[in-house]
Amino acid sequence: MPSAFSPSSHVFYLLKKTKSLLTIMPTSERPKEKSDSKQYLYSFSGGIAEGDASMKNLLGGKGANLAEMANIGLPVPPGFTISTEVCTHYYDHQRTYPENLFEKGIPEALCKIEDALGKKFGDPENPLLVSVRSGARASMPGMMDTILNLGLNEKTVDGLARKSGNPRFAWDCYRRFVQMYGDVVLDLKPTDKKQIDPFEEILEAKKHERQIQLDTEFTVEDLQDIVSEYKAAILKKTGRTFPEDPHEQLMGAIGAVFNSWNNERAIVYRKLNHIPGYWGTACNVQAMVFGNMGEDCGTGVAFTRDAATGDNIFYGEFLMNAQGEDVVAGTRTPLKIEQLKAENPGIYDQLEEIRSILEKHYRDMMDIEFTIENNKLFMLQCRVGKRTGFAAVKIAVEMFNEGLIDEKEALMRIEPEQLNQLLRPVFNMKEKQAAIAEGRLLATGLNAGPGAATGKIYFNAVDAHDASKRGEPVILVRIETSPEDIKGMAVSEGILTERGGMTSHAALVARQMGKVCVAGCGALSIDYQKGEMRVNGKDIVLCEGDYLSIDGSTGEVIAGKVATKNSEIIEVLIDKTLLPEEAATWNIYKQLMEWADKYRKLSIRTNADQPDQAETAIMFGAEGIGLCRTEHMFFGGERIDAMREMILADDVEGRKKALEKLLPYQREDFYGLFKAMGSRPVTIRLLDPPLHEFLPHTDSEIEILAGKMNKSFAQVKERISDLHEFNPMLGLRGCRLGILHPEITVMQVRAIIEAACKLKQEGAEVVPEIMVPLVCTVKELEITSEIIHKTARSVFAEQGIGVSYLVGTMIEVPRAAITSDQIATAADFFSYGTNDLTQMGLGMSRDDSGQFLPAYQQQDIFSRNPFESIDKDGVGKLMSISAKDGRSVKPDLKLGICGEHGGDPATVEFCHQTGLNYVSCSPFRVPIARLAAARAALKN
Ligand code: PEP
Ligand code: MG
Repeated sequence: MPSAFSPSSHVFYLLKKTKSLLTIMPTSERPKEKSDSKQYLYSFSGGIAEGDASMKNLLGGKGANLAEMANIGLPVPPGFTISTEVCTHYYDHQRTYPENLFEKGIPEALCKIEDALGKKFGDPENPLLVSVRSGARASMPGMMDTILNLGLNEKTVDGLARKSGNPRFAWDCYRRFVQMYGDVVLDLKPTDKKQIDPFEEILEAKKHERQIQLDTEFTVEDLQDIVSEYKAAILKKTGRTFPEDPHEQLMGAIGAVFNSWNNERAIVYRKLNHIPGYWGTACNVQAMVFGNMGEDCGTGVAFTRDAATGDNIFYGEFLMNAQGEDVVAGTRTPLKIEQLKAENPGIYDQLEEIRSILEKHYRDMMDIEFTIENNKLFMLQCRVGKRTGFAAVKIAVEMFNEGLIDEKEALMRIEPEQLNQLLRPVFNMKEKQAAIAEGRLLATGLNAGPGAATGKIYFNAVDAHDASKRGEPVILVRIETSPEDIKGMAVSEGILTERGGMTSHAALVARQMGKVCVAGCGALSIDYQKGEMRVNGKDIVLCEGDYLSIDGSTGEVIAGKVATKNSEIIEVLIDKTLLPEEAATWNIYKQLMEWADKYRKLSIRTNADQPDQAETAIMFGAEGIGLCRTEHMFFGGERIDAMREMILADDVEGRKKALEKLLPYQREDFYGLFKAMGSRPVTIRLLDPPLHEFLPHTDSEIEILAGKMNKSFAQVKERISDLHEFNPMLGLRGCRLGILHPEITVMQVRAIIEAACKLKQEGAEVVPEIMVPLVCTVKELEITSEIIHKTARSVFAEQGIGVSYLVGTMIEVPRAAITSDQIATAADFFSYGTNDLTQMGLGMSRDDSGQFLPAYQQQDIFSRNPFESIDKDGVGKLMSISAKDGRSVKPDLKLGICGEHGGDPATVEFCHQTGLNYVSCSPFRVPIARLAAARAALKN
């Protein structure tokens, strides 16, 4: 047995060993198979491995990290990883394997494990048992299949009984193995969601027959009966005999792992997490170690720091006399890791040292799985730990302070979308306290995913999904979650479970999705059949559809609605109700944003139409307005009527009269906007009202408008029908409106320039950027520019002063994109209107594509919704051509983006690569864009 597994192995010793092993065995010289045959299998054993952490693409995350842990001398049970290339081969070749894999490669790799442990696979005297686990490049917790205790049969079970001196343990392992294998490989599953698991049914019947409550009360004879019944049920219901030959078992399990790459829940998970289907999974075959062999055995999972808050504490859970699945599945509520300190200080100290080794080695917060077998510690997994947005930011900043990482790495550690969580609402404290005072606090569970959520109770994923489609806010309430629940979790405001710890499936997945989650709330009794939830010891019943509020930061579960309120950062930044020095999260966020601003090359602007929106965006760090949609300034009140009057006017005179009403509104709004933005650039787009959005629709609306316009109902109705367009998005909008009716452009330019002159007279300097929408030929831009300049000159003459201004255009029509060399001659700047550019580039209506895009994404026609994240190959190419051609005639042409894509991190990266000067997004996405821009600059 290698020394890393000896009972005397000690972490200090391991560290020394690590050094020497790494010195003598650099990656490049580690054993590889002959160059003429592709290497599909990578062995690892104490102190030496054929792979390492850099080989995730080939070995999957789990396999690569098992190899790395073995390399740095941590106590890893020996095993081997079957590479992801075997999985892709399997799918590319009608589910068959590379030549000789099972005939030669796997038997040889098994031999290495046998040699390391002195056991033999299938040996009735001293059997080697293995686990067979999936492991893709990116972690997909619980989505794929795993088989434990493989190698047991009617003979080896006796060998295990003799060797362990514990026949009950041996039969319990066998019972678990037959159940797992029967389910995963032989496919004996419930036929519908209401049916009880067939294996559980047999187990429960046995308990009933024996008048016992717990699995632990089964005798060896009971377990033997159960195994026989399991096998009989498998044969009866699937027609398949349970395999006795361990090699046949192994082949079945490996096939099941590869098949599970394409099970429904894995596919859903991949979609949600943008993991490509072609990656495939690796498969890890590893010697079993047992946490369920007695009271000096156990198993646990831990994070090297708190994954919810980011606090620098060892955060974990364990169960004695249990197998790993008991902790992860959440079927027993585990104990906190501190308790291990009291129960077994030796193992606890060893774990603490491993915690420190791993953090120093990986320079990141790690998530580990361990097993204690007869008082010996084994590491079964380590990976970079999933964390909340709060924790991600805190850990990155603190690891910088600890000297583990530099600021660039700190920035790369945080996914921009995670910042959303820092900006998310919390409960209104007053309302929450009042709810508690009224006795509405039902129970407190584990604070598994921070934030506040309120919504209606639904007890299963399907109902949750349907309710969310109806527009209801949903709280998904489950006894415990399983990967099948993922669809329901994705649409819920929050998730509440009765069972399971901080590392249970619900907790892990909710945190990763950034969902509010309270887990392990044992005071609840949930009854799926009745569709109700009771609170133990209280006379309270909540039913499906009732409102419930959960606080994922404190674990509190409150009956009824509780209003949510802004996060700490919002309170400091916008509400000004919290002092910065009292807000820890704010200070960490501020540090991060300073780093982001130091490295990013792109400017970040915002899309804002009102001064208050502009102020919010400035608080979030916006450096200008990239798009003010002037038609949005007319929403509401009197203004929409004046706007409609203008649109519906029969002639120039009528239009001019309506425009006179609009002028003061516009001037005042522009003045407010310029003032809010100070010296920052403000891009104002000339009117672009798709007519169907602005005309009155109902007869009563028409009636009221007719009254205001001193016209009859019939006259207005007729005019509306004259203006009716079959394709309003391609109709009389954008610059076409100003070309037909120049007086509209004149009014708008007058308002812009008068507002700027007023500010100049007050001592402020503004440089308005006037933007022409929906241009498709240079001629349109030239005609419109001419009107703009003429109007500006007359305002300057009237006012006796002048201001600088720019005239640019949106590029949102494909023709404009590919004639950008012509258009640039008449433009000071381009701003990519990617909403329309996507609509017209793809020929897909931005309003109607919801009908078919989900199916398109399902079939991988688009991996992301092209209206959310830029379609790089198509729309992106149009942008690149335009940028290059535009700058070929005007090298310093300013380029930006103002479509909704401007706040999407992947698009921000694309804009950086394309050489844009700025991105413009909605105010609340400005911090996300700042971080995304910094990461893009660091990556590229
Ligand atoms: C665009 O088309 O991307 C754009 C910003 O303009 P709008 O959404 O107003 O059409
Ligand atoms: Mg547009």
